[in-house]
Amino acid sequence: MHGFTGTGKSTTAQRLSAGLAPGSQVLHTAVVRRELGLAPDQANAPRYEFKLDDATFVRHVSTAVYAELLRRAERLASDGYGVVLDGTYNFRWQRQPVYDLSARLGLHVAVVHCKCTDEEEIRRRLEARVGSETSPLNEAADWETYLSTTRLTEPVVDDELPDGGTPHIIEVDTRTAVVSSRSCSECDDCRRIAHTLEGYGNLQ
Ligand SMILES: [Zn+2]
Repeated sequence: MHGFTGTGKSTTAQRLSAGLAPGSQVLHTAVVRRELGLAPDQANAPRYEFKLDDATFVRHVSTAVYAELLRRAERLASDGYGVVLDGTYNFRWQRQPVYDLSARLGLHVAVVHCKCTDEEEIRRRLEARVGSETSPLNEAADWETYLSTTRLTEPVVDDELPDGGTPHIIEVDTRTAVVSSRSCSECDDCRRIAHTLEGYGNLQ
């Protein structure tokens, strides 16, 4: 999964997993962070600003969480299960190890890029989360985090796979429920993913 906070990644990830092979699993960054004791309200959590460009956040939290997601993904994929990695994956240093892993295991990797073309809708979604902090899927994101994300994110289209190719990208607009393949319309795996998500209609 890839996309700004509030664009509907988690819902899309759950639906995707349900439509793929039995036993497919979703690994969520917020859940892993909590399991590592690094959630903002937990004892082990270092003090950080919870901003993408905050050095402490990136060094202590983001690095540990994405590395743990990758470890779990390798175990599951090696056992033959499909894996959906549910995080923002805004940066190349977060995505490249996933590409490398899939190349090493000889598996297909696709980027499902969630978008919401209506920023007011995102604002509403983020505000609706306030007061439901107990949800493990809540990333404590706010409007300010969203704005800093849009400035800092590195575009997936510029990524390069270990074989020199470009990633397979499936774009999902969770407001209009339009699913489209980008740079890949021929591959069976991407078609299956797109087909699964189209089947849900409205993706919110
Ligand atoms: Zn493809």
